[in-house]
Amino acid sequence: MILELDEVTRRFGDVTAVDQLSLTLESGEFLTLLGPSGCGKTTALRIVAGFEPVDEGRVRFEGLDITGRTPQRRGFGMVFQNYALFPHLNVFENVAFGLKTRREPKADLAAKVGAALERVALAGYEKRAVQALSGGQQQRVALARALAVEPPLLLLDEPLSNLDQALRVRTRGELRKLVKELGITALFVTHDQEEAFDLSDRIAVMNAGRIRQIGTPRALYEEPADRFVASFVGTANVIPVEVEGDPGSGGFAARFPEGAVWPAPSAGRDVREGPGVLLVRPEDLRFDDGAEGTPLSGVVRDRRFRGAFTVYRVEGTGFEVQVASPGPGPATGDRVRIRPRGGALLHLFPREGSQVALPTARPRVETPSWEVAPRDAS
Ligand code: ATP
Repeated sequence: MILELDEVTRRFGDVTAVDQLSLTLESGEFLTLLGPSGCGKTTALRIVAGFEPVDEGRVRFEGLDITGRTPQRRGFGMVFQNYALFPHLNVFENVAFGLKTRREPKADLAAKVGAALERVALAGYEKRAVQALSGGQQQRVALARALAVEPPLLLLDEPLSNLDQALRVRTRGELRKLVKELGITALFVTHDQEEAFDLSDRIAVMNAGRIRQIGTPRALYEEPADRFVASFVGTANVIPVEVEGDPGSGGFAARFPEGAVWPAPSAGRDVREGPGVLLVRPEDLRFDDGAEGTPLSGVVRDRRFRGAFTVYRVEGTGFEVQVASPGPGPATGDRVRIRPRGGALLHLFPREGSQVALPTARPRVETPSWEVAPRDAS
């Protein structure tokens, strides 16, 4: 373990921005704090950087308590959205800035700046004015500046959010490669789930100053701890159901208003009989193939082509779901029957158990292969 946050709390008046947050980072790990706007991600990162004091708790780095240390003494690399380049300095001077404050011998300076620029594919740009660079190039200079001092920890706060989508996707590929090649430990902040999935070894999903779940992208996706995580990570259908015991598996099953019953052996952690919600991913639903069990029936309201599959919006009694299905499928207006595919993950959560309102509009997310955000409607 290289970094440890131990029950860290930070309040601003009535707002508890970070609420008893505990977190550890392993050396060489890329960990992302992911959550909606205002959940405390930036505050948590600023606490690690040393820009924000804590009201309670401790921050440890390599076993030492650094809670009271200034940012300078921590020496972490930082690429923040608002931690801009110095406009009056050229590319070389910007990248050299951190090295100079560390009194790097002049002879080594040019070589180190050159190497840092080479890493971000900007070799030869030394004399350029930063204002003459594109947004993506500026962001890469900021990264080169942070990496030039070979920081023991790299902190990144939405560093890609000012870039257009194509550039953002490309830059994050480069970022991950670079960080991994250099063996750097990185703590990254974003509200963009796809970005988090692309970059991270582990993701901590935050809400209201707390970590709801921490794990690999796959673990969060397949075994969400609660309804908030299930909905925030990936696209999930949320269907009101009655949770009942399933004599077949000894576990639980979801009963739909129209009578269909789907066994849900992988149900959530605090599931109990009674009113609940079923969370199921669009790609885990299939149109009825005549197999055993009871399908749900509904009508296709619209469909969107997504390349390898098509996403169908299906409405039925007391539910509306998205079905991501490959191959030729039903037309808009067709009456269909749907069921979970074999091996589908069905999660059950108590209906009133979740204090968290589900995000109605998904946060800014690019279009992953399974994305079904309506804003992409063509
Ligand atoms: P975003 O993605 O919108 O940047 P965030 O998850 O990074 O959000 P923070 O910026 O950490 O969230 O803010 C968490 C909460 O603390 C918010 O309610 C915010 O308004 C509040 N907050 C943050 N900084 C301050 C401050 N300096 N003074 C008062 N309130 C603050």
